[in-house]
Amino acid sequence: MHFSSGINRPPYEAMDGFLQVTSGCSHGSCRFCTFYNDAPFALSQIQEIEEDIKELKAYGVKYKRIFLQGADPFILPYERLMQVAVMIHKYLPYVESIGGYARVDNVKNKTVEQLRKLKEVGYSNFYFGNESGDDYLLERMNKGYKAEAVIEQLSKLDEAGMKYIVNFLGGLGGHNYGIRHARESANVINQLNPTMVYASELTLFPDTPLSEDNRNGNFEEATEVERLEEMLEFIRCLDINTVFKAEHVTIPVPIRGKLPEDKQNMLELLQKQINCAKNGEMDGFRKNVRSL
Ligand code: SF4
Repeated sequence: MHFSSGINRPPYEAMDGFLQVTSGCSHGSCRFCTFYNDAPFALSQIQEIEEDIKELKAYGVKYKRIFLQGADPFILPYERLMQVAVMIHKYLPYVESIGGYARVDNVKNKTVEQLRKLKEVGYSNFYFGNESGDDYLLERMNKGYKAEAVIEQLSKLDEAGMKYIVNFLGGLGGHNYGIRHARESANVINQLNPTMVYASELTLFPDTPLSEDNRNGNFEEATEVERLEEMLEFIRCLDINTVFKAEHVTIPVPIRGKLPEDKQNMLELLQKQINCAKNGEMDGFRKNVRSL
């Protein structure tokens, strides 16, 4: 298999077949990110992709889902995505869906009609790392788009009927910014229809510009109490029908449930965690998160 870096996938995609169609990240400059530092952005050659699909077939595993590798394989133009899907279905006829990580601006080069056709050939539930709905934070972290673009681009998926997942990155605003980050992010997501909202927490790693900001006194991390209060406010403000999951290694106690029916339970669980955190029971948790 042609992998330029290690396999990156969310926890729910462990049983998928992994296929590289792009390497690295087309953006590569979010201030908190260490992913894909080892692999410059590149599109895979179609011959390489075909060889890898054949290798997946040779494994003899009847994969139901293919998780495309790279930070944002959905950047590929419509025609190339169609070509990849046709090859996947030719060699792996049991595959039901194809996903991967995605950036919001990956949708820009596709029309709603094209998205509809991509859905028909199996593309579904890409994980969009929008992280925040707050324009100040999106700019501060150099995400490369604003909240308006998140709504505009992901609404095209809604119109096309293509399922997708959105990510919320807690703690992104640091000390004293959590409630605004939570409210603005929920406000954006409330205008969309994701199948799942997936939350994780910012963890500073040494070789990022944000860590440098932290060392220089230009970014102060949110406390564990602040992070939990932010998460509580975020869930409280979400008013769509979706699934919520915060089960990443960066989350001290996993939280999951359906919205709106499980909202009250999740809020109560978070309130208990806030009380524990106020007693110092979560001090030191983040220092033990060594990798994502
Ligand atoms: S956070 Fe995502 S979009 Fe930003 S640089 Fe990292 S991989 Fe790329």
